[in-house]
Amino acid sequence: MIVDVHAHIFPDKIAARAIESLAANSGDYKPFGDGTLDNLLANMKEAGIDLAFAANIATSPKQFKSIVDWSISIRSDKIFPLGSVHPESNDYEGEISCLLDNGFTGIKLHPLYQEFYVDDKKVLPFFKALEQSGMFVLMHAGNDIAFPGDDHASPARMARLIERVPSLDIIAAHMGGWEVWNAVLSDLAGAPCWFDTSFITHINRDLICRIVEKHGIDKIVFGSDFPWQRQNSQVDCIRAMFEKSEDCDKILSGNILDLLNKHGVS
Ligand SMILES: [Zn+2]
Repeated sequence: MIVDVHAHIFPDKIAARAIESLAANSGDYKPFGDGTLDNLLANMKEAGIDLAFAANIATSPKQFKSIVDWSISIRSDKIFPLGSVHPESNDYEGEISCLLDNGFTGIKLHPLYQEFYVDDKKVLPFFKALEQSGMFVLMHAGNDIAFPGDDHASPARMARLIERVPSLDIIAAHMGGWEVWNAVLSDLAGAPCWFDTSFITHINRDLICRIVEKHGIDKIVFGSDFPWQRQNSQVDCIRAMFEKSEDCDKILSGNILDLLNKHGVS
């Protein structure tokens, strides 16, 4: 079984526009798909992926409800949609309750698109509420090509957040911090959180091994960041990078299934 914790799709009627505007800021990275549900399902089939998380991002508080409604409409045994709450929403408590009432187990946050520093005291009450809710968070971590030099989600900030909300299960995307992997190794690896493997193909392999060794193989989960990476090439990359089949199994599904199980998803 293979679970991809990090894929992006959009409602059919806005997918082309959304992908085009994201691609305009993504430098050399061009999308491998059109951002629709059907396209994701076809890629999952090609890559032998059984379940993918749809990582939605509310870039403003007013997007909350439309993301909930659409997510419910696409939920299936193959698609596990994550809700998204904007930390600066006036009603984040009501929105967290709404997600719980509607069967959501996890949410996705992107501190750069949502413009908050993860260790800002201003957003701590929001994270405390999330911690209390029992949901888990998939969070963008590190740099983002669309926001050069932006450190809203640096490894040191992530480490401070994790200390403040120790019971909140956080998956830090991009092996703990895109393009800041030396800082991941010094400031975040080993912390009680998970790292996804999305967009790591170009990291120095020795550095990945050192991060994984310090962090713990049991806290590494597979993510592709589809459509920005092709899912089958990402699966191949994991198999090539981790020689022991036992390690591959943990990364490709075992670890995330344990986490989902802990959150009551079977
Ligand atoms: Zn992503």
